[in-house]
Amino acid sequence: MPKKRYRVKGHAHGAYDKHFITFLTFLHHTFRDISTLFLETWETSPVIVGTLLIAFLLTYLFYSSNARIKVRIHQKTATYKANSWSCDKSDDVEDKRGVRVGLNNLGNTCFMNAVLQCLCHTQPLVDYCIRGTYLSDINHRSPTHGDLVKVFAEFVKKISDSNSRGAISPYQLRTEVQRYAPRFSGDNQQDAQEFLRYLLQGIHDDINRVKCKPSFKGDYGGDAFKTWRRYRDTDDSLIVDLFAGQLKSTLKCMTCNNDSITYDPFWDLSLPVPELESSDGNNMCCNNILDTEILLLRQCFNLFSSPEILDGSNKTFCEACKKKSRSSKKIEVNKFPRVLVIHLKRFSASSYGQKLNMMIDCPQVLGNMSEFSAQNSIGDSYVLYGVVDHDGSNNSGHYIAKCRNPYTKEWHEFNDSRVSKATNIVTSKSYILFYIQESSSQF
Ligand SMILES: [Zn+2]
Repeated sequence: MPKKRYRVKGHAHGAYDKHFITFLTFLHHTFRDISTLFLETWETSPVIVGTLLIAFLLTYLFYSSNARIKVRIHQKTATYKANSWSCDKSDDVEDKRGVRVGLNNLGNTCFMNAVLQCLCHTQPLVDYCIRGTYLSDINHRSPTHGDLVKVFAEFVKKISDSNSRGAISPYQLRTEVQRYAPRFSGDNQQDAQEFLRYLLQGIHDDINRVKCKPSFKGDYGGDAFKTWRRYRDTDDSLIVDLFAGQLKSTLKCMTCNNDSITYDPFWDLSLPVPELESSDGNNMCCNNILDTEILLLRQCFNLFSSPEILDGSNKTFCEACKKKSRSSKKIEVNKFPRVLVIHLKRFSASSYGQKLNMMIDCPQVLGNMSEFSAQNSIGDSYVLYGVVDHDGSNNSGHYIAKCRNPYTKEWHEFNDSRVSKATNIVTSKSYILFYIQESSSQF
């Protein structure tokens, strides 16, 4: 009966027993073979077996410890975590934010690409576009009815979001700019500084918070604050918030010493480049000589603010003398803007058609600006974040931009579609410099 019982009960269990016995037999044979092989190897070369054992033990210990290994190759850190054996990117220190793509050249459009790269590194302007703040500021009475700022903001979003290695095309933006300013049509090379002014003016018109300009009575010509307030009553936009400063111009009558003072807004400073004169009075605009000459930005500021004598056909009317008289005109900066754009007048009319190629030492941090200001007040210092270079002569040349990533502080060179790390930031080719007040660059 036990046999029968076994068979009856075993019918249900029997299949499992059979498989279990097969499995045990398999283990017995396998491990017997492995242990036999192991023992045989141990007898012949115990070093190999010992090494393998230690390696196995260490691997097991590391894997079970959940440890992390940091590998640092070429400034990049990757973390390998035990238990996953995959590269853990969360600790990767490389910051992917900021613009790092180039712009396609649409036929002599390097002047436009260089300026656009600098504007796309002007952080308050980029934030304004990305956050969509401009939408509530759009002025439908402007010449482009808000279309220019919309296309510009879309362009800023596209270039900021782009993680691809390939360049993007500024085609739509160019089309809109040409509609607003037909002078930028065609394939002719243009002046980058003129383009910057047109573009900023067009964007300003599109986002001017003053929809109906008030009419004014009275003359505040000699009052800096009232003149500024009147200006802001008609022109109020982020462009003005960022780029607008105030110039003070003093006209001194050389007959009666009467001062006539006027204040005007500016969006960029066009600084003259000092031209060196040789001993015989001839202009030394020879590139070979001037290439080696290093001037300071201070010298350009001093020349900008040095009095100019207005005589002959340039005589001005003096309110005190009630007649045209010889006078001296002095221009100073009364109020510095948050974003200071400095345009170096390398294409000077007085340089006999030659481009002034001397190196002007523009510091990356502009400290005390009081010596350049009519008010002598110590303002915030400025940090350089963008440079437009012009390489070439008066008639032909090529523009590139060098810009500082606001997150990583690294400088990149944007040569149309090509992007590389920039090393020499300020050179004898520097043409337009973008500085931002340090308090404005914090975000
Ligand atoms: Zn006078």
